[in-house]
Amino acid sequence: EEAKEPPRIQRLSESVVNRIAAGEVIQRPVSAVKELVENSLDAHSTSINLLVKDGGLKLIQVSDDGHGIRLEDLPILCERHTTSKLSAFEDLQSIKSMGFRGEALASMTYVAHVTVTTITKGQLHGYRVSYRDGLMENEPRPCAAVKGTQIMVENLFYNMAARRKTLQNASDDYSKIVDLISRFAIQHINVSFSCRKVGLYRLRTRTYILQSSKPHFATSSRLDAIRSVYGISVARNLMKIEASDNNPATSIFEMQGYMSNANYASKKITMILMKLFVFMFSDRLVECSALKRAIEIVYAATLPKASKPFIYISIVLPPENVDVNVHPTKREVSLLNQEVIIEKIQSVIESRLRSSNETRTYQEQT
Ligand code: ADP
Ligand code: MG
Repeated sequence: EEAKEPPRIQRLSESVVNRIAAGEVIQRPVSAVKELVENSLDAHSTSINLLVKDGGLKLIQVSDDGHGIRLEDLPILCERHTTSKLSAFEDLQSIKSMGFRGEALASMTYVAHVTVTTITKGQLHGYRVSYRDGLMENEPRPCAAVKGTQIMVENLFYNMAARRKTLQNASDDYSKIVDLISRFAIQHINVSFSCRKVGLYRLRTRTYILQSSKPHFATSSRLDAIRSVYGISVARNLMKIEASDNNPATSIFEMQGYMSNANYASKKITMILMKLFVFMFSDRLVECSALKRAIEIVYAATLPKASKPFIYISIVLPPENVDVNVHPTKREVSLLNQEVIIEKIQSVIESRLRSSNETRTYQEQT
């Protein structure tokens, strides 16, 4: 039989390339929220307010009081690979901001309609401009504005029928968004966050306000923040934990956090799922499945009947020991000596949990 002719290889058009890439960065409404809030934090905001319609598919609006965006930067704001945070590859080593790729806003304009309103310090009025496929749809128009930036993302995935279909359950995404904002709120205790859901009917409107306290007393106010976001019953049953290592041969890190005690676990407090927070250097919110598993194993072994634990962990490492550029949504990072760090944290948690469990048993018997 004669061999088939090979198919021709073609160059994909730029808009197809960009839309495919955008679908990876913005996987669902909550990924857009994460990028927008990180931008607001990078802009040194102290107040960040969200408005969400239809689980984020109809509207995601993030308003902040940060430094704003210059008029002369607006034309390239939503082009791919435009950023104010990085210029040389080597800068990645020491980057403090959460963004660095200049891809998030661009991605949103390929899968949604994006409108930016912004004002910079000392200006009498702001500017508003809408974007589509990376480009401005119109010249920036002068408008009234309060301090900072407001970004509206409308009709998310309007041009991705399959994605829209898989995201029908809007309430599910709203709870993912509230969960994300809660995590940000307890990490950034000097920033106040609010998240509001706008329903089809006014009566259905629900408001979540997460107001956190001032940053001055770092340790006590972290607990205050947890209390205000997750409630007294959580905060009351947390134990402070610390671990560190400063040996270049094994690992260098400092960890601080809170873990739920035996009492908390036995109470089966409803609605509390496993909350695992791992924050690496420069307050990057990331997932670490290996650490999560290590902690779950300890809880399951020490408190067999335990419900899911509540864990907040913040880890600081030398920037050169972290590779932030391993995941398109920056959800995971790679750490040098990850196994050693996880083992150290695991053993601290284990001994704290065991002693808290013994105290509890003793108290129950007497
Ligand atoms: P990155 O955050 O990786 O730089 P983005 O696409 O998220 O890329 O944002 C592009 C640029 O737009 C940022 O570098 C920043 O200068 C500016 N920007 C975005 N959002 C805001 C905001 N809320 N306040 C001030 N500047 C912003
Ligand atoms: Mg960004």
